[in-house]
Order: sequence, then C-alpha cells, then structure tokens
Amino acid sequence: MVLYKQFNKQAKGDEAYAGLAEVMGVMKNKQKQARKEWPTMKKYQASPYLRTVSAPELGVAMVYHALYGNPRIVNEEGLWFLDIFKEPVTMAEAAERCDRDPSDVAEEFREIFFLVEPSVNEKEFLFQKRAQGLARVANKETVDRMGLAISDSCNLGCGHCIHFQSESNNGASLPMYQKPANQLNMSWETAKQCVDRYVKLMREGGKTLCKIHFGNAEPLINWSVIEKVLHYSESIEGMEFEFAINTNLVLMNREIAETFKKYRVRIATSLDGTAHANDAIRTTKNGRGTFESIIAKFDLLVEIGYPLDGFSITVTSGNFNLVDTDIIDLAAGRGMTSIAFDYDLVSLIDIPVKTRVEKLMRIKRYADERGIAFFGTWDSPFRNITSESLLTGDHAFCAAV
Ligand code: SF4
Repeated sequence: MVLYKQFNKQAKGDEAYAGLAEVMGVMKNKQKQARKEWPTMKKYQASPYLRTVSAPELGVAMVYHALYGNPRIVNEEGLWFLDIFKEPVTMAEAAERCDRDPSDVAEEFREIFFLVEPSVNEKEFLFQKRAQGLARVANKETVDRMGLAISDSCNLGCGHCIHFQSESNNGASLPMYQKPANQLNMSWETAKQCVDRYVKLMREGGKTLCKIHFGNAEPLINWSVIEKVLHYSESIEGMEFEFAINTNLVLMNREIAETFKKYRVRIATSLDGTAHANDAIRTTKNGRGTFESIIAKFDLLVEIGYPLDGFSITVTSGNFNLVDTDIIDLAAGRGMTSIAFDYDLVSLIDIPVKTRVEKLMRIKRYADERGIAFFGTWDSPFRNITSESLLTGDHAFCAAV
C-alpha cells in the first residue's frame, strides 16, 4: 500500500510526518470514485518536474512538482511505485508489478501531475495562465490594494536602514536606494488624489473592499496626512476599508494609538531582539538604544485594548551574537503569536551560512514549542511550494502577483 500525506498551510514540523494511515483512510472514498475513470491502457510516466527531498532516517521523502508545487510526504513503497513510471507504462503493466491494486494512489498522483502522459507539455498550462494573468492586469482587474508612501524620512537612524545609505554609495555595495533630495512627506492633496483614483478603479472593477497601506520610512512623521486619509476614507460611501501601517512606533502617542484602534489599522513593527540586541542596531540618530521606548509603546497598545500579535526582527552583524531565544520568551510572555525573523541580506556575509542556519533553526524550534509562528523571507520558498498550487490558484511570494 502506498501511503502519503498532503501538506497544507497549517502543517508544520513533525506534524507533516504524522498520521499517514489516518490520511489514507480519509482519502479512500474519493479514490474509489476516481478508480472507475482510470484509463488502464494509456501510458503514463513520472513527470520530469518531480523533485524528491529524502529523509532516509524517517523512511519517507517529500516529493513535489517543480512547476505546480503540491508536495506530498511519500514512504518508501510510494517512492518505489513512482519509480515504476520512470519509463512510460500502462496502468495495467504497473499493476502487474504490485501485490495489490494501486489504482487509487495512481489516480491521486495523476490528479496532481506526478504521473503524466508522455506527450503532455506541462509548461503549456503555465504559459496559458501567464497570458490570462497579463490580460487581467491589462484590464486592471488585479489591483486590490494601494500603498501610500507617506514619508521618506525617519526619526530613527538604524545603520542597516535601506532608506538612509550614504550618498557616497556608488552602487558597488548594496543597498542602492538613495533618499529623495526634495520632498520627503506626501502632501494631503497627493494622498487624496491617490485615494480617489484607487476607489474609482475599485468601483470600476465592481469591488467594495479597499486596502490601504501606509509606509516607506516612518509614516508617523507625517501623521496628519494619515489621519486625514482615515477620516476621508470613512466618508466614502459604498466602500469598506482595511488599513495597515509599517511603523517603528516611537512617535505613537495615546491619541494615535486610539485612532489605530478605532480604524482597526493593522500595525507591523520591529524589535530587533531583547534590550542589548535591539539597542545594538535599532538606534536613534545619536546612536541611543530604542528598546525601552518601543516596549513602552507595546504597553500603551495593551493598555488601550489593542495589543500587537507580534513583530519583526532584523538580524545584522551588529546583533547576530546577541539575538537568542530570550526574544521568544519576551513575545510569549506578552501573549504574542508571531515573529517574522530576517537576516539582513547585506551585512552578514562574514558569518558562515551554516552558523546562521543553526541559529535560525534553534530559535525556530524554541518558538514552535511555545506556539509562536516563526517565519521570514528565509522560508518563503518552502511556503510557496506548500501553499496553494498554481493548478488551482494564483500565489507567489510577492503580493504584486
Ligand atoms: S526605523 Fe525603519 S525606517 Fe527608520 S531608520 Fe530604522 S530601519 Fe530605517
């Protein structure tokens, strides 16, 4: 009997390896139906896009389709069965080599393109999807959110900040973003025009939910415009709004916090470790640490009944040795549920990848044990192949898709 388990968005860690027999039971009814339609005399082969990541110590492997995702945990018998199809064979020929009727599992593998007819061009489907997608872009059907670059300036002076690289950067070192010379803050006139055009576009597309994000460097520098956008949006009839902001929180006072709560503005913020780790890199323009002021704002949000779910951590060479599991304890102690952890892509080149991975995995295991979702751009490839398949929907790491 071939056993395998489907990944899903919730499956994490060892759970993915558990309960294989149970999954098989759940699938039985569906498979019985499918078996009737299985064309036993047609030839099939394992897709050339199948990829296998083995875990011999567990007696299983993760098999996925390099174009469509759809990973499955497959046991040794399952791998043996797939191996029968390394050359095109009919189902009847494959069945002869098995001691039991394998058509149920074969049908499942066929549905997710693990087994394909030799003549099938599997890329063709993606070409068609791309053409359909581009047509939807041209028709303006794919727009669903708007980001407002509220401010290009910041009250802090973090050394790793992409917004404030020295003007002398000649492009030989990343990042290359140069701060704009003239206007740093978006005017209300510009913001209003953006909202009006966005709402018009959404109405034309028959959509009633608008999503607005306030961003760039530190948007609270330009709070008055954010506040106007919130009030103005509320006055627009026939539309619902969702708001989000990326902020370092330091400029947030009680009034701003209450406004966030009133408009249910989702807050994305950063804390780069506990006191020493954070203060090594997240600093004021004078180089002073910011841990105390950020924690005070966490507390303010708790006080007004609008607590944060979590925060992001950036790790650079400046705080690599200082970031540890104590940040998970801090989050768990505050009832938080998620941490986005990312290594700075530029400053860490002196620390071997192996050392970085070991630290990352150790903290992740610790977070998993405490019920904290721990993710970042480092696990995006894995989340991409284990989330929705391109066979059934659009998905990618980049929201612009
Ligand atoms: S708080 Fe954010 S925008 Fe401001 S300096 Fe630090 S990294 Fe840059």
